[in-house]
Parts: sequence; C-alpha cells; structure tokens
Amino acid sequence: MIEAEVLIAGGGPAGLAAAIAIAERGFQAAVIDPGRPPIDKACGEGLMPDGLDTLERLGIRVAAGDGAPFTASASSISA
Ligand SMILES: Cc1cc2nc3c(=O)[nH]c(=O)nc-3n(C[C@H](O)[C@H](O)[C@H](O)COP(=O)(O)OP(=O)(O)OC[C@H]3O[C@@H](n4cnc5c(N)ncnc54)[C@H](O)[C@@H]3O)c2cc1C
Repeated sequence: MIEAEVLIAGGGPAGLAAAIAIAERGFQAAVIDPGRPPIDKACGEGLMPDGLDTLERLGIRVAAGDGAPFTASASSISA
C-alpha cells in the first residue's frame, strides 16, 4: 500500500515537477503511473527557455555547456 500525503497520478514532467515542489514544501508525495519504460516516443530533443527556468526553480540547473544550442528550423507539413 502506498502511504503519502499527496498522491500524484502521472509521472511525466508535470507530475514529477509537482512531486519535487510538494516535497520541497515538506509534504510526502507519491507518484503513480501505469506506464512502463521504455516510453514509445522519442522525446527530450530540446529544452525551451521557460522549461529551463522551471527546472532551475526546482533546483535542477542545466549548465550552458551541457547541451547544444537549439536552432529553430522551419517545419513543413505536406498534405
Ligand atoms: C514525439 C514528441 C517529442 C517531444 N519532444 C519534446 C522536446 O524535445 N522538448 C520538450 O520540452 N517537449 C517535448 N515534447 C512534449 C513533452 O513530451 C510534453 O510537453 C510533456 O511530456 C508533457 O508532460 P506531462 O507531464 O503534462 O504529460 P505526459 O508526459 O504525457 O505524462 C503524463 C503521464 O501520466 C500517465 N498517466 C496517464 N493516465 C494516467 C492515470 N489514469 N493514472 C496515472 N498516470 C496516468 C502517463 O502514463 C504519463 O506518464 C515532445 C512530445 C512528443 C509527443
């Protein structure tokens, strides 16, 4: 049985960020997720500036040299 003060359904970025924020405020959080790795999508190619700010607020600092600059390219959708 899971014992926690806060139960978070979903262990994606939102759920995990919520768990960190809740733990930082002194509450015990548990995350449940029916998914099993590996996830079926290729993800994590890029972190947007807002995402970096959010990670920093959660105490996760990504140093400038840890990644390559994100260069936006034009996307095209063909019908
Ligand atoms: C192909 C692809 C590439 C991407 N690349 C990037 C990228 O490079 N950079 C970037 O910033 N973003 C990227 N994204 C977007 C990013 O994946 C999403 O913005 C992000 O995952 C959203 O986080 P979330 O926690 O809201 O939802 P999710 O990541 O979808 O997490 C939701 C979780 O809830 C779980 N769940 C569902 N139902 C239940 C339930 N009933 N009970 C408990 N758990 C449940 C699921 O298993 C899942 O793990 C990409 C998305 C896709 C599809």
